[in-house]
Amino acid sequence: MRIARFFYRKAIKWGIVENRDIRLLPADPYKKIQAGFKKIRLNQAKLLPPAIPTKIILVGLNYKSHAKELGMKIPKQPVIFLKPPSSVLAPRGKIIYPPGVKRLDYEAELAIVIKKQTRNISPAAVKKCILGYTCLNDVTARDLQKIDVQWIRAKSFDTFCPLGPWIETEINPSNLRIKTYLNGEIKQNSSTAGFIFKIDYLVSFISKIMTLYPGDIISTGTPPGVGPMKINDIVEIEIESIGRLKNRVG
Ligand code: MG
Repeated sequence: MRIARFFYRKAIKWGIVENRDIRLLPADPYKKIQAGFKKIRLNQAKLLPPAIPTKIILVGLNYKSHAKELGMKIPKQPVIFLKPPSSVLAPRGKIIYPPGVKRLDYEAELAIVIKKQTRNISPAAVKKCILGYTCLNDVTARDLQKIDVQWIRAKSFDTFCPLGPWIETEINPSNLRIKTYLNGEIKQNSSTAGFIFKIDYLVSFISKIMTLYPGDIISTGTPPGVGPMKINDIVEIEIESIGRLKNRVG
């Protein structure tokens, strides 16, 4: 099932994407998902980020080959950081290139959407706390990341967290093809099978640090092939069985 959040006739709504239609949901999808009869055309809806997180937790260096390309050691425990909710950007929204930044990178990532309030759970209990999966672009001001000890500035500008296009609830995330296209040219092409820390472990690890709420996002790190974007570039993150998240840099 593909769950979308969108703007339609001056109101924000949730729905289930069915081919070229969206079947409206009477409420948000975190409790029981019960679709109504009303359908609208997908192209009449303006897609919004498919979650309103209280926080976005990201994992750095979760693919061995990416750690290698950055010249960093493979971590023994997950390295996590946060982006603020204000960085979230809708599908087709514009990534704002901050003045003074010298290198702005894309990072294709598989993002987990949390379903319910979750704290201190075991890896075995993780599955029932996940609503589904979506695409995330961990936009990074690489020059600032290298200057600063903390990554907050480099990762947190408004629009630095494109998210979408929708939440896929029925996939097995353990071996999905993940790609970045920049102006149609393929730049990252890998598989989530390359994770150092698997999803069950990651969510359990994070839940022992902080309480997770419905709509919170955990992003699982990027594969190798990160690189820079310029103004007017079109960047697309594609994950097998989910879809494509498209944004322009402006
Ligand atoms: Mg990242």
